Amino acid sequence: MKFYSTNNKTLRTDFKDAVFNSLPSDKGLYMPEYIPKLDPMFIKNIAQYSLPDIAFEIAYAFLKDDIPSADLKKIVNEAINFEAPVKFLDRETGVLELFHGPSFAFKDFGARFMSRVMGYFSQEEDQLLDVLVATSGDTGGAVALGFLGVAGTRVTILYPKGKVSKVQEQQLTTNGQNIRAIEIDGTFDDCQALVKQAFNDSELNKELRLTSANSINIARLIPQTFYYFWAYAQLRIQGIHEVVFTVPSGNYGNIGAGLLAYKMGLPVSGFVAATNANDTVPRFLDSGNYEPRPSVQTLANAMDVGNPSNWVRIQDLFDQDLNALRALIKTYTYDDEATKKGMQEMYDKFHYIACPHTAIAYLAAKENRADHPGEYASILLSTAHACKFPDAIPAEIFDQVELPKGAEAFDAKQKQAADLNVDHDSFKAYLLDNR
Ligand SMILES: *Cc1c(COP(=O)(O)O)cnc(C)c1O
Repeated sequence: MKFYSTNNKTLRTDFKDAVFNSLPSDKGLYMPEYIPKLDPMFIKNIAQYSLPDIAFEIAYAFLKDDIPSADLKKIVNEAINFEAPVKFLDRETGVLELFHGPSFAFKDFGARFMSRVMGYFSQEEDQLLDVLVATSGDTGGAVALGFLGVAGTRVTILYPKGKVSKVQEQQLTTNGQNIRAIEIDGTFDDCQALVKQAFNDSELNKELRLTSANSINIARLIPQTFYYFWAYAQLRIQGIHEVVFTVPSGNYGNIGAGLLAYKMGLPVSGFVAATNANDTVPRFLDSGNYEPRPSVQTLANAMDVGNPSNWVRIQDLFDQDLNALRALIKTYTYDDEATKKGMQEMYDKFHYIACPHTAIAYLAAKENRADHPGEYASILLSTAHACKFPDAIPAEIFDQVELPKGAEAFDAKQKQAADLNVDHDSFKAYLLDNR
């Protein structure tokens, strides 16, 4: 299968180049040249299959021409090696827990698959692949742990000093092996600017084989469709056929994958995009005018995105048909006060401790059900484990958080991070001196 750019549909790139470029040179986003439909018999019998089985079926539909099936199976089995259970709060509301991977957030699906695909394509290369990532917290952890131990690759993570949570910092800085971290005396935007400057530096590009582990990489989008089919399989076991997915959204990669799954034939009655105060998409679906704004800081900070980069993909998937999007996607927006109440309510009513992003999804699923009553299951996507957000969760609730398996292991490990100012020359010298 080839991939085109959303800015130029006549351009055709093969999967390998789409993965290493991340972005087409015209600054569009890569999209598959056609959407493969899954075999209706497979969907009918989906309750018989495991998560890795389903993941392989989907990956194969996209990549059968690019990666031999035995290799693809190995990539899938290594990448998707953790659970994603649906836990029911009540008979009509389930939480799809996507945080049982090594970084305790759903980004593990994308990052682990992408890292193994990059490792696979790098086998033929003599030179190490240098992955540069700027992170405000969650992406970096998933990328670091995703690439950990993947042969032929090395990851350099830049994060803003003092601006990530303890668990996040541990995930970034205690890995060793092929992962290294640099704390930057600045903001996330400064980290991003340093990475961008490095990519634009011709000398660095001559000396090193650089790539980004960008969240818009096509190899991160495809694996995020896996868990929509897997959730559906779990519902079918319960005898449930109708489902609406509620997705806490920032950059719209997660819900974008859900919409892709829908186009592949997943039976879905609808989607709910749940947002914090960064409500560019809800305003767009309301007014028809796309008016991005600078992001504002909220408790659900992994969704603090003012101009969601995956939105053009969704528009492309629906041929810019605003009415089709409006029919399929409902949107709800919550401020920090409401988010806190959502976390409190989930705890009081169901004894469920949710991260702020998940709480926003809970509120939106509930409001959507009130607006559109019916015989369907609301599945809310739980994007991260609560332990990653100590400052955003009411203290009495946070005290009850049980650390997931693997979290204590980080405590025993030593933080290792270089310390740099916001300065291209120092970053460049660091990269060249530490090859
Ligand atoms: C990244 C992230 C989101 C937002 O997902 P998008 O794909 O950017 O919409 C929500 N919650 C958590 C915990 C995240 O890490």
